[in-house]
Amino acid sequence: MVRDREAGSKVSRRIFLGGAAAGAAAGTLGGFSRAAAQAPAIAQDVRTDVVIVGSGIGGLTAAVRAQKAGARVIVLEKAYEPGGTTAHSEGSVANNRFETIREDTPLADPEVQRTVCDNVPRFYEFMDRLGAPIAGGGGGGGRGGPPQAGGGAPPAGAGRGAAPGGGGGSRSIAPVAWVNFMVEEVESAGGKVLLETPMLRLLTNRLSEVIGVLAEGPDGPIRILAKSVVLATGGWMGNAQMVTQNITRYFGNLHQRNASFGGRKPLLTGDGLLAAMQLGAATSEGGFDGFYGHMMPARPTKPMHNPLSTYSMYHGPYSVVVNLHGRRFADETQGKQTGKPRGGGEQLINQEVARQPEATAAYIWDESVNVERACADCALGDKDKFPAFRDIGAPVATANTLAELADQMERWGRGIPAAEVMRQLTEYNQAAENGKAWALPIPKAIAAQAAPIKQPPFYAALGQAAITATHGGLRVNAQGQVLSRTGRPIRGLYAAGVDIGNFNNYVYHGNLCIGAAYGYVSGDNAAKQAEPRGGWDIGSLTTG
Ligand SMILES: Cc1cc2nc3c(=O)[nH]c(=O)nc-3n(C[C@H](O)[C@H](O)[C@H](O)COP(=O)(O)OP(=O)(O)OC[C@H]3O[C@@H](n4cnc5c(N)ncnc54)[C@H](O)[C@@H]3O)c2cc1C
Repeated sequence: MVRDREAGSKVSRRIFLGGAAAGAAAGTLGGFSRAAAQAPAIAQDVRTDVVIVGSGIGGLTAAVRAQKAGARVIVLEKAYEPGGTTAHSEGSVANNRFETIREDTPLADPEVQRTVCDNVPRFYEFMDRLGAPIAGGGGGGGRGGPPQAGGGAPPAGAGRGAAPGGGGGSRSIAPVAWVNFMVEEVESAGGKVLLETPMLRLLTNRLSEVIGVLAEGPDGPIRILAKSVVLATGGWMGNAQMVTQNITRYFGNLHQRNASFGGRKPLLTGDGLLAAMQLGAATSEGGFDGFYGHMMPARPTKPMHNPLSTYSMYHGPYSVVVNLHGRRFADETQGKQTGKPRGGGEQLINQEVARQPEATAAYIWDESVNVERACADCALGDKDKFPAFRDIGAPVATANTLAELADQMERWGRGIPAAEVMRQLTEYNQAAENGKAWALPIPKAIAAQAAPIKQPPFYAALGQAAITATHGGLRVNAQGQVLSRTGRPIRGLYAAGVDIGNFNNYVYHGNLCIGAAYGYVSGDNAAKQAEPRGGWDIGSLTTG
């Protein structure tokens, strides 16, 4: 069971499959003769129909879907509790309209976007049939826990329960209750959710069909043979090398705003993507330099707690944003880049900050933003976030004049020169007063977000870019099958959730929707996967 964020109740660890229990529940496989003789010492051999790797929304949806289609399932989870980033989220499963998101993200994968848009409504119906805790749509929140109001921290443009891309109304899972509900669904139907049991690699036969996984259980390596595997390991934002190569050299400065938050070791290290690439899987054609996240206070002296949205600096587009040199460096609204009249949300300027020195920048705003705008695009509770930033000891400033504010910022000791901040604010305010912020050398293109910073008191907070989910990932088709570099499906291999690439491409349309839709599709297809043509001989364990 995953901890309740509010109540902080204890995690109950699931007991690892015992030998006899494993045989009864999942079907122990005998006869590894030749392969077993040459393989590393295997503590257990297990046989099931579908292995699901990861227990977030992608993995758990796939698991229950596969079970409903008649499959025996085993879910592997690397962490000590299920739920991944899904359990930390605000729960809004975006119901995007295909035409709208195509227009917003022409470089994204149209097949993936179409599949997500078509299947989110089916996911809602599936959840209603199960009685899962999902709000909106008259479902009443299900039997698994309290429903959440719609909204949460959905993609830009979504209001409470609204569809970000103009679809027919988005719905929200109650994240922690939903994860617990789905784990119970899996287990009550005879499936297993194995915690602290990471997949190490995929197993293939001599025809390169995927026939299972090698995992690391508490008692040693465990070999699970299955007709199919669904990868749902939640992205690669904790993989220092990949983030450094694709996104920013300031990996060490990024907040991990995901399941790894506050943990000693990153969980989300691209395990699904890398395991599939070892078998020749294709990566998405785009998305690798983009990611989703929201700025969070820089180097607070006290810990931040869930929900992480409390500290998310959603008001960036309404602020003036300067780097450690005191200079504006990007359009806070990113209006020109996206061409979107309403802007793309704070996640865009967060991506720009990630590439600035130390992935750090200061947001400067005034009382009008605090009162009316601080959370206008996220529909979350408290609008005034300044007290939350101050209470955790983050570098903040407030003053009745901009000059005093800039002096306080210089005293943060991070090298931000007050004179440069004042020069930037003066230039910005002059242009904004005349409605010409779009004409600045670094424009602020969206007029509705480009008011002058003039109503005291003034505020500033130092933030660091935060990474919640990567956009690049595996190439998949509409059936959820992972494609090889030749464009053919890799037999027996499926994906769900953020492991799938290029649904979002710089601009963000939601992440839970990828797990919901592809969990629904891939779980069903994985359950219907025929036995491997090349049999169960584990070629790859011995040869590579
Ligand atoms: C504060 C916050 C608010 C958010 N709000 C929203 C929102 O309202 N709407 C929205 O669309 N998105 C939201 N998100 C983003 C969203 O929660 C995630 O992107 C989404 O949950 C990812 O789902 P997933 O199933 O792909 O991965 P996850 O939920 O992260 O699950 C992946 C799991 O795989 C496990 N794993 C990794 N490697 C292995 C391995 N080798 N073996 C076994 N297991 C492994 C991980 O431990 C993890 O548990 C929010 C995120 C945060 C932090």
